[in-house]
Amino acid sequence: MTTDWTMDDLFLAYAAGRLAEPAELAVATHLAMSPDGRGRVLMLETIGGVLLDDELPAELAPDAMERMLDRLDRDPPPAPAAPPPADTPAPLALYLPQGLRNVQWKKRGPIQEAMLDMADSSHTVRLLKLTPGRRLPTHTHEGYELTVVLEGAFHDETGQYRKGDIAIADRSIEHSPVVDGTSDCICLAVNDAPLRLTGLGRLLNPFIRL
Ligand code: ZN
Repeated sequence: MTTDWTMDDLFLAYAAGRLAEPAELAVATHLAMSPDGRGRVLMLETIGGVLLDDELPAELAPDAMERMLDRLDRDPPPAPAAPPPADTPAPLALYLPQGLRNVQWKKRGPIQEAMLDMADSSHTVRLLKLTPGRRLPTHTHEGYELTVVLEGAFHDETGQYRKGDIAIADRSIEHSPVVDGTSDCICLAVNDAPLRLTGLGRLLNPFIRL
């Protein structure tokens, strides 16, 4: 099973700054934890840069480079007010300054969750915590879902995901993630549309928000 959206599509959109804030957070958190991911993005950016160079008009305005450098000088990237907590990837710490260890979990059915607030409220952005062996009800997605493993590991019908990995799912994916190993699995999950329970669970759709 594969999604309509590949990891490279996601990385390219990220590199081009075209992702919504919640999706950008998921990718940035993954990249902070994954040297392989960073290497891939660098490669895609290099290829993208080469393609872009080919498309540039033969003559740039003579002061183009100067203006670009000026702009970079004026807009330094925002720095976090304090160093991120050691247990929390830096991009996530911008939204979770208290760190992963101090999250106030709310128990909801088989999972514990903590919602993250962000300026872009078009997505559901939350931390999920599941105990070892826990299986989520089979579901599919009305939009896309990005899941970054922050601690522990899980597997589903598409593969196994360990700390630092990112999983993409969408309406073409029906899955029931299961926590692997002996420690809790904590994930950052970003959805731009509701989930839909399938199998027997579909009868519960009117009552349950997964
Ligand atoms: Zn899902």
